[in-house]
Amino acid sequence: MKRNLLRALLILNFSFFIFHSALAQISAELLTVPEKTQYTKTSLYADVMDLISALDKSSDLVYVTKMGTSLEGKDIPVVVMANPKITTPEEAIASGKPVMYVQGNIHSGEVEGKEALQILMREIAFGDKKHLLENQILLFAPIYNTDSNDKLGVEIRRSQEGSPELIGVRSNSQGWDLNRDGIKMEAIETNALIQNVIMKWDPEMLVDLHTTNGTWHGYSLTWAPSYHYAGEKAPYDFTWNKLLPEVTDKVLENYDIYLGPYGYHNLRAGWPVTEIYTYNHHPRYIVNQMGLRNKIGILSEAFAHERLYQRMSSTHAFVTEILEFTNDHAQEIAQINDEAEKAAIDLVKEKAGKVKKGVRFKMSYLEDIPAYRSYEYIPYQEVDSAGGYLSMDDVGYAPNRDKVKLVRGTRIVTLENVKNYSAFEPVVESTLPRGYLIPAEFANIAEHLEKQGAVVTKLEDSITANGEVFEATSMEKGRRKFEGHFMVQLEGSFKPATKTFEKGDYCVDLAQPLANLIFYMLEPQSDDGLVTWNFFDHYFERQGINESPVQYPVFKYFKLGK
Ligand SMILES: [Zn+2]
Repeated sequence: MKRNLLRALLILNFSFFIFHSALAQISAELLTVPEKTQYTKTSLYADVMDLISALDKSSDLVYVTKMGTSLEGKDIPVVVMANPKITTPEEAIASGKPVMYVQGNIHSGEVEGKEALQILMREIAFGDKKHLLENQILLFAPIYNTDSNDKLGVEIRRSQEGSPELIGVRSNSQGWDLNRDGIKMEAIETNALIQNVIMKWDPEMLVDLHTTNGTWHGYSLTWAPSYHYAGEKAPYDFTWNKLLPEVTDKVLENYDIYLGPYGYHNLRAGWPVTEIYTYNHHPRYIVNQMGLRNKIGILSEAFAHERLYQRMSSTHAFVTEILEFTNDHAQEIAQINDEAEKAAIDLVKEKAGKVKKGVRFKMSYLEDIPAYRSYEYIPYQEVDSAGGYLSMDDVGYAPNRDKVKLVRGTRIVTLENVKNYSAFEPVVESTLPRGYLIPAEFANIAEHLEKQGAVVTKLEDSITANGEVFEATSMEKGRRKFEGHFMVQLEGSFKPATKTFEKGDYCVDLAQPLANLIFYMLEPQSDDGLVTWNFFDHYFERQGINESPVQYPVFKYFKLGK
């Protein structure tokens, strides 16, 4: 009896220990605002900075720096976690450990990434996740969009159903959507991210934390890799075929949470759905751009309709298991990315002028069709002719407008044969050049390429080159403004040409790490290049594009010299 009691007590004690082993006793400063408010409130900028500074003071694994300062003068914090602690990118290189980067709050109304990262940093410093620093260096930017986080309002994101009630706004304080700014780089934050995180620390992976806009799929979180279109395939394949499936399994196994591929389903064709669609492939989205930089990008979208604590839970579980995976495969990832970079350079060196690559793409579906989870929809018929008594608002789509309508039910069901439109096929291709020559008067283009990390040189002497010139026959502008721009689409054709450029003009040798990104930015027919974002409008208008064909001033060369 006594022995049994002792054993029972031991077991009780032991389970108590297991349950609480995640965190030793911590100071209240390390609790997040949601944890302290029954998940009714999200952290303000000052709260995040306080927690970060408490971490900094109490942990010897933490170094706090900033990527830049916002329009309103707020430092955008970056927390570097390493064991042993490091403070510079040079020390990261010397350690031999690859850098992985995770950011929250790119859209300030989507708050759970910001909260989950604060908890995760605390657990790495003081809980049971210190081992995540064994093989990698972690950079966290929990509050990327600092200014807008504190511009609180109700019903800013209705699909989140008031959990929490007050949240910040989407765009930054200059009015830009930070997740559409990857090419044009108008936002202070984008410049800070690209120059002071991506170019300086050279992370092998970027994870961007969001919340979806409201499709009632059956997952607590959906993900997407950096989509494959104009980049190297290996980092994409590794993310899509290995990292994401393994992480998804682990999250289900360890947290009982379902994850799945990002997409909107289409109810227009009725129920059950047969297709889901992802978003665009464009590198204006920072996750996609990572692919053109020969790195891994991962989009994380918590399910908007879950409560804040659930969204924090799924985001926390996803990021944790990603970092478990990258810790286990750190060197392999660095090697895959290095080989992708080498492949991009080699292709330019060996095949310039001989191969074509896509510059405009259309969406197509993946060959592999796994099961798809969704909330069930119930077809019903209207009972009167006055428009029915059930609102379609919560469906969010206009289903069959005829007789049968759909209302969302309470069950989650698994559907087979749902095509996942997450692949991209080129619809316009262009010849890969050895490089580009840019007249001196377009110094702004050279500067912009350099801001993205490209190597641009000034010609010391005049030079003659063989290649192709693009003769633009029409320049069409978007009818509606998008992110402050009437976006441009050029039509025309390339013609063989020999041209001479002078001392002071610019040369971009494409045999460099950012070959794929530079190609996508400089190709005149690219669907997300510098032409698209109005960098050449004045030139084309001045030259009279509306009356007669105009040559695109950036010359694409296959070979220098006659
Ligand atoms: Zn978002």
